[in-house]
Amino acid sequence: MEYDAIVVGAGPAGSVTAAAVAHAGYRVLVLEKNASCRSPCAGYISNTINMDLPDDSVIQSKITKMRTYFPDLSFHDFELNGFVVDRPRFDVSLAMRAIGSGAEIKWGSPLTDISAGAIKFRDGNANGNVTGKIIVSADGVFSKTAALLGLHQHEFAVCAQYHLKGVEPIPGMCEIFFSTEYAPGGYVWVYPTGKDSAKVGVGITKGKSPRAYLDDFINNSPVAKRLDGIRTEYITGALPVGGMRERLSFGNILLVGDSAGMADPVTGAGINNAMLAGEMAGRTIIKALENDDLGHLADYEVRIKRLLGRPLARSLEKRKRLEACASNEQLQEQLPELWVTFRQYWE
Ligand SMILES: Cc1cc2nc3c(=O)[nH]c(=O)nc-3n(C[C@H](O)[C@H](O)[C@H](O)COP(=O)(O)OP(=O)(O)OC[C@H]3O[C@@H](n4cnc5c(N)ncnc54)[C@H](O)[C@@H]3O)c2cc1C
Repeated sequence: MEYDAIVVGAGPAGSVTAAAVAHAGYRVLVLEKNASCRSPCAGYISNTINMDLPDDSVIQSKITKMRTYFPDLSFHDFELNGFVVDRPRFDVSLAMRAIGSGAEIKWGSPLTDISAGAIKFRDGNANGNVTGKIIVSADGVFSKTAALLGLHQHEFAVCAQYHLKGVEPIPGMCEIFFSTEYAPGGYVWVYPTGKDSAKVGVGITKGKSPRAYLDDFINNSPVAKRLDGIRTEYITGALPVGGMRERLSFGNILLVGDSAGMADPVTGAGINNAMLAGEMAGRTIIKALENDDLGHLADYEVRIKRLLGRPLARSLEKRKRLEACASNEQLQEQLPELWVTFRQYWE
């Protein structure tokens, strides 16, 4: 059977795209490399975009403030409205929504090649082969689809995170720590998941292994006492920090989410943009299928660039300046211009 759309990757970008297109009555197949959803993540989702959460049970805590610490531990509070979610469960509920809309998902089925209009994938010990009118690359930061298109690999940040139990987070508060010692070119986060539990992680763009920085922060930083608990659920991961790709559509192939470089280069946040892009890709694909004209797919790139182009370009420029801060003194002085919760960032 030929599918109307084949989506590669069942992360937020892929599942949202698949749900939209399948909901309109088209035949959609999602190929997912893993046996279930397990993207590594801290799970902070901003509530600024009018997007309903798939399922309230995925929420680990509601967030009303972000506290940003300068290297000298003075801090700046900012009101915001969001959630920390259990990321695997969040992704599973989005995938279930896609299935509920009529999409088919093949788990444990990594895309391996695209040739002569056919998508090849591994299916257990066998090789599968399917065709689709439209292909959506939603396969994350190290996108195989993008590599097959001959696109360069994104610049990326590496991250490590523990879920700590028996610790003292500040309720409702996401804490962000800047320091060249503990997070060169990035930051440490402490996101509450309950009264006495928190996800504590680090994302960096230079230096040694992220785990070494994270362990050092948890063991030796001025807030070490509050974070002295049981370390569970250690994860590592990467996210794109080089900004959005120049091109997002290649004939019948669209790039969405991290595959397209839509995570914010400074904050690393990519879930909201991935879902937004999935919605837009979905709508564009439906239009192309309704009119039997793949020429409509080019609209996706225009719309996304109009929406995300400037903020991501600004963030990329800020990230380069953040990375160039070689000392805590420089970071202390420049942070208000480089971090999103400060007014100066937007001036
Ligand atoms: C440690 C860490 C913490 C983060 N914290 C946050 C946060 O708090 N808030 C936030 O907004 N963002 C955060 N991010 C970024 C966020 O996780 C991503 O921006 C977001 O997941 C992008 O969604 P996506 O659907 O584009 O890609 P992904 O979520 O990466 O999904 C891609 C999917 O494609 C699958 N795949 C890969 N290759 C293939 C293949 N060959 N064939 C088939 N399937 C394939 C993968 O298995 C995966 O399921 C964090 C990232 C990391 C690493």
